[in-house]
Amino acid sequence: MGLDLIIDNAVLAGQSGRWSVGVAGGTIAEIAPSIAVDAQRVDAGGSLLTAGLVECHIHLDKAGILDRVSISEGTLPEAVRETAAAKARFTVEDVYARAARVVEAAILNGTVAMRTFVEIDPRAGMRSFEAIKAVRAAYAHAIDIQICAFAQEGLTNEPETEEMLAAALADGADLVGGCTYTDPDPVAHVARIFALAQRFGVDADFHTDFDLNPDRADLPAILAETRRCGFHGRVACGHVTKLSTWAPEAVDSMAVQLAETQVGVIALPATDLFLLGRDRQTLVPRGVAPLMRLRSAGAPTAVATNNVLNPFTPYGDANLMRMANLFANVAQLSRDADLEAAFAMVTSDAARMIGRSYGITIGAPADLVLFDATSPSDAVRRIAPPLQGWKAGRQTFTRPRGMLLS
Ligand SMILES: [Zn+2]
Repeated sequence: MGLDLIIDNAVLAGQSGRWSVGVAGGTIAEIAPSIAVDAQRVDAGGSLLTAGLVECHIHLDKAGILDRVSISEGTLPEAVRETAAAKARFTVEDVYARAARVVEAAILNGTVAMRTFVEIDPRAGMRSFEAIKAVRAAYAHAIDIQICAFAQEGLTNEPETEEMLAAALADGADLVGGCTYTDPDPVAHVARIFALAQRFGVDADFHTDFDLNPDRADLPAILAETRRCGFHGRVACGHVTKLSTWAPEAVDSMAVQLAETQVGVIALPATDLFLLGRDRQTLVPRGVAPLMRLRSAGAPTAVATNNVLNPFTPYGDANLMRMANLFANVAQLSRDADLEAAFAMVTSDAARMIGRSYGITIGAPADLVLFDATSPSDAVRRIAPPLQGWKAGRQTFTRPRGMLLS
C-alpha cells in the first residue's frame, strides 16, 4: 500500500508503547508499532500524537476589540452593553481581520475544528456573518469552522432578529444559537430558537443560566423543548454557571436529565471567572459549572475559550490546552484520570458536543497534532505546546521546540 506520510515513534492516548501512523489520501491508513514502506517520515520522538483540539464555543466576530470599548465594572451587563455599541460599527473587513487573527492563533495552538457564534441582529446586520463565512472558506485547508447564527441580544424584544437568523440559516449558517439571559421572556426565546432549528433541520446552542443566582434557571425549559422536539444529543448550553451554586444532590438530579437528553454543558472558565462574583469583596466564588460531577453521571461536557480580548474576557490566545489547564486548576483536579477528563473536554468530548467524529483510527481523516507531552494528563498539566499539525494529511503548521543557546 502506498503511503503519503508516516509519523513514527508516537505516543497515542490510551495505548501503551510507541506507534507509527500511516496516512494515505488524507485519511489514516495504518496504525502499527512500525511501518516498513517508503514514504515521507516524521519522527515524533515519543511525543503525544492526537487528533487535534476542538474548540466548541468561541466568538470570532467580537474578538480583539479592546481598543474600542471601556471596561470599568467587569460585569456581564457591561460586557453586553459595550459590545453591542461596538458591533454597530463593525465592518466586514474589520471582522474578517480580527477573526482571521484568532483562527490563525487557534491553528497554531493545535485546533482542528471550531464552532463560532456570529451575532446577527439589527446592530450587526449580516456583516459579521459575511465576514465569518469568508474566514471559514479561507482557512478550510487547516480548520473546520461551524457557524452558529446567534441571537445575543434576545428575540422577543427584537422580533426582526428572527427572520435575520432564518436568512443566515438559509445562506450557510450551520446551526442556530439562543441567549436566554438577554431576553425578557426566556421560555418564549427557547421555543423560538427550537422552532428555527426544526425549520432548518439544524442543531441548537444556547448561552444560558449565566449568573450565580441559584433560582429561576432556564435550563429546564431547554430540556423540555429538547424532549418535545426529539432533539436528544443536538443541543449544547454554554456557561450554566448557576449549577455551581446548587447543592450536590440538585446537580446530580440535573445531571441525570442532561444524560437522558444528551444536552451538553460547556464551561467557559476564562469568562466565567472574569465576569462573575463582582458583588463579592472576599471569598469570590469560582462560578464555573461543576463539569466533573455532570460528566460522571453521563452528561456531555466540554471546556472552551468563548471570548478573546473583549469586554467578556480581556485576555486570550485561542489556546485550548491552556483552557483545559485553567479548568483543571479551578476544578482542583490532581489525579491522572481527572486530567485525562479535562483533556477529553477539549478533544473527544468537545468533538461530540458539535456533532463531529474524533480519534486516530483507520479510515478517519488524518487531522493530527503532535504535542510536546508524554500523555494527555501531562499535556494538560504543563500546557504542552504543539509541535506540528496536519489537516487531512496536509501539514498546516510547525512550531519547533525552543532551543537553549550556550
Ligand atoms: Zn459565548
